[in-house]
Amino acid sequence: MSVAPQAPADPVPDPPRTPAGRYAPSPSGDLHLGNIRTGVLAFLCARTTGRVFRWRVEDLDRVQDGAAERQRADLESLGVDVDPPVLVQSARTDRYAAHLAALAERGLTYECYCSRKEIQAAPSAPHTPPGAYPGTCRDLGETTRRTARARLREQGRHPAVRLRTAHESVTVDDDFLGPVTGAVDDFVLRRGDGVVAYNLAVVVDDGETGIDQVVRADDLASSAPRQAHLAALLGFAVPRYVHVPLVLAPSGARLAKRDGAVTLRELDTLGFDVWAWLGRSCGFGPWSGMEQALAEFDLGRLAPEPVVFTPPAD
Ligand code: GLU
Repeated sequence: MSVAPQAPADPVPDPPRTPAGRYAPSPSGDLHLGNIRTGVLAFLCARTTGRVFRWRVEDLDRVQDGAAERQRADLESLGVDVDPPVLVQSARTDRYAAHLAALAERGLTYECYCSRKEIQAAPSAPHTPPGAYPGTCRDLGETTRRTARARLREQGRHPAVRLRTAHESVTVDDDFLGPVTGAVDDFVLRRGDGVVAYNLAVVVDDGETGIDQVVRADDLASSAPRQAHLAALLGFAVPRYVHVPLVLAPSGARLAKRDGAVTLRELDTLGFDVWAWLGRSCGFGPWSGMEQALAEFDLGRLAPEPVVFTPPAD
């Protein structure tokens, strides 16, 4: 990590010192086999490196009734033991607000009034990386801000809040992918609908619960430099990252519910051997269950290619 840690401006509870991994699904529906594989891998990485394993419900949006419970029940049925406490993001808005206020106090945030369309249409500033926020609202005067706030209010919108950054490039050492480098732009900390942004919630949750190993699918690898930068700013130790290959449908797109029988319940009904598939898809032989998986698992042997899953026909 190339960011110098800074002292936290806001005193936070001492993070627990027990090394811990986690799985943090969004409860938007039942887990499909790709999510299940990632959750099992997170558990295997944690347990085979002497870590406890925590569960977090990322329910700041897209919640389906009962999904959080079913997601956990599915993984527990495969032998994934969760160490308490289970964190629920919607119950932690005061923690996110406290960290946001501390960053604001340090002059590290600013309000942004841009719509997505305006951002896309804006010419990118010379020193910002391609695709980054062009900095339209970064240095506005107070009078312009007041007018912009009033304009949004009339439309029933709120300003978003962005992190003020130096647009530096940050590298994290991923235990699976190797170095992952990304430009850290002025990313959103609180969205225009008033909800805390994913990056801030994840960093605060991982930091305050002592998560020192983050295992998740590699579609989130590009978020790691921003999250590592933010963790360092907030005074948290940067966790070890392990981004594992996504599971794809035969079309090459990421696996989704519409691809057929992909949930544990659907696969069980068809007599599909989930454990055998998990073992093979990870580059081992067919596993008979969690016991064998724990005995054999070795991150160094995990196959690096994306895994293609063809749902069984019914
Ligand atoms: N909630 C996110 C998801 O379900 C994962 C966030 C994370 O692991 O950092 O995709």
